[in-house]
Amino acid sequence: MNHEYSLGAVQVSLTPQERFEEYLRSKKMRFTQERRALVDHVFSQHEHFDANTLLEEVAEKFDRKSRPSRATVYRTLNELVEAGLLRKFNVGSRDVYEHDYGYPQHDHLHCKKCEKLIEFQSDALVELRDRVAQDYGFRVTGHRLIITGVCNECRTAKRRERRRHDLL
Ligand SMILES: [Zn+2]
Ligand SMILES: [Zn+2]
Repeated sequence: MNHEYSLGAVQVSLTPQERFEEYLRSKKMRFTQERRALVDHVFSQHEHFDANTLLEEVAEKFDRKSRPSRATVYRTLNELVEAGLLRKFNVGSRDVYEHDYGYPQHDHLHCKKCEKLIEFQSDALVELRDRVAQDYGFRVTGHRLIITGVCNECRTAKRRERRRHDLL
């Protein structure tokens, strides 16, 4: 990865679990065993995922008795977004989730061929954003940039294929 675009770190005082508990309490909702198991799972690794992937993982990880239901998975995902723990965004035909709380602000390159998401952070981009906002008298609360195209691996794979074709 290009060092210029690498992501920094963010310090947070609460764990995602504590933060979610606080949110649920403010809504007078209970941090049930099911919700807790889901939050633990979702925050055990930083990956971009969609609801289907999560449902598959849940089906694999939990036995029938302790497995959160489909409805709970969907409901908890929405709650996690509302609590500011997860970020949801749309790429192509998918709704993708990723960690927001405790994870640095960043943008994405999205490969249309293999669906890969590459993360990057650019100070120059944030400066441009702020300058544009200022010109419009606009107060910035966030932004989202997704660069769509074809990733390096997919491009070289295609080139290789074409070369093989030429040889035949
Ligand atoms: Zn690709
Ligand atoms: Zn990301």
